[in-house]
Amino acid sequence: MTTLTFDSLNPATGEVVGSHPKHTPAAVHEAVGRAEEAAAWWAALPAAERRRRLLDYKAVLTQHIRELAALVHQETGKPVGDATLEIVLAVTHIDWAARNAQKVLGRRRVATGMIGLNLTATLEYLPLGVVAVIGPWNYPVFTPMGSIAYALAAGNAVVFKPSELTPGIGVRLAELFEESVPEHKVFQTVTGLGETGAALAADPRVKKVAFTGSTATAKRVMAACSENLTPIVAECGGKDAFIVDADADLPAAADACLWGALSNAGQTCVGVERVYVVDAVYESFMRELSDRVTKVKAGEDYGPITMPGQVDIIKRHIDDAVKAGRTVTGGAASVRAPYVDPVIVEDVPEDSPAVREETFGPTITVRRTRDAREALELANASAYGLGGTIFSRNARRATELARLMRSGMTAINSVISFAGVPALPFGGVGDSGFGRIHGADGLREFARPKAISRQRFAIPGMNLTSFTRGPAELERLLRLVTFLHGRRKR
Ligand code: NDP
Repeated sequence: MTTLTFDSLNPATGEVVGSHPKHTPAAVHEAVGRAEEAAAWWAALPAAERRRRLLDYKAVLTQHIRELAALVHQETGKPVGDATLEIVLAVTHIDWAARNAQKVLGRRRVATGMIGLNLTATLEYLPLGVVAVIGPWNYPVFTPMGSIAYALAAGNAVVFKPSELTPGIGVRLAELFEESVPEHKVFQTVTGLGETGAALAADPRVKKVAFTGSTATAKRVMAACSENLTPIVAECGGKDAFIVDADADLPAAADACLWGALSNAGQTCVGVERVYVVDAVYESFMRELSDRVTKVKAGEDYGPITMPGQVDIIKRHIDDAVKAGRTVTGGAASVRAPYVDPVIVEDVPEDSPAVREETFGPTITVRRTRDAREALELANASAYGLGGTIFSRNARRATELARLMRSGMTAINSVISFAGVPALPFGGVGDSGFGRIHGADGLREFARPKAISRQRFAIPGMNLTSFTRGPAELERLLRLVTFLHGRRKR
């Protein structure tokens, strides 16, 4: 029997980068079987040994950064510098996950309270077993590693299904792991198209699915997972807003706005897509933005659109925005597949596709608002809620706005900076998904709490969970509870 294969292509040139097997449901089944065995072995290792192995993997990846970045460049088309940056960030996440797993997940005593006076209570977070990671193509190292590293550090085995656009880098990440953990298949990659991912998500031996991609596919994955009650963490993209307040450093804001919108050709789940600028600084900000954007070139500063089908979506949004709003930069002619030149359009109605739907391209809409409050209201009126940005010199006010922003993460006076802080959880609300990767929450996402209460001694005359309990014991309990909890707070 011949195994069917598929090719990954360089989106800039159309050249074949590599050929990979289309793993069948049977092959996926075998991989999950190997992962189950590996999970038992990995979970039984002392935490310090898992930490040592993961830190070693981190070093192996670091030594291969140039090779990996070249491969990411070939498969996605993004500049080598950007590919290097995402791998560096992934390395810092592996480091954090390895160093903090025991502290976050390890066994600890918790207070038992007066009624549990005779008990000792402990809490720990145990591994789930096999975790499936279904990854995207836009950041094919950084994004899946946000799940893979944390799942491994929490003591799970991982089966990774990279996007069909970036299988080569997915395969390499697992191959290199074997240098640090050769004994068992603790981290494997299976390759293929959507069906391979579907078979993985539907396997009842998978105890959690970490998915990154579109909201529509997340719903399909969730439906498959519902059969086995398999929980999922879903990171489904966004429509992130960028708010410029009256006291913002405008050159810095314009610079950050353009990078947040255009880097990686706008194919960033937390990329800037909607810009709201308060009236008082609108003209000055737009001058800064229009001056700077002329220096950013598609094909030099950022790469092509990685997924050919995305070009049509970007084009539809641009055509609609240009018709309904006022063009500042670019327009319909900016789309020259596989590249898209920067597009900035003002005054696009808030109900148009370019403002409501994820564009995933190097485009932004800009709107003038009365004040920062109105900007926040418009920013929050989105089905998505992943990240966002606020530029203001008033730290207190900016923090207040950030707290009120309906999103999982907000950066102040910088873009996307939260993604580089491993201790911060990453994930969204609404159509952007649920669950968290990164940080302590990201470790706990891939573990199950285990609670143990141990009675140390019996309290004479206070055996409440026994049929021998009498009215006197109940009376004593009522007196104790009234003393502890019966005083009203006025
Ligand atoms: P999808 O959501 O279709 O794919 C994401 C991942 O899911 C890929 O690995 C894909 O595999 C896999 N997959 C597809 N179908 C299934 C299935 N039925 N069961 C299990 N896994 C499946 O995203 P696309 O890559 O098609 O991109 C579409 C849109 O998603 C983009 O336009 C963008 O808006 C958004 N997106 C958001 C990302 C983010 O960072 N949040 C990242 C990527 C995309 P395969 O590639 O083999 O089909």
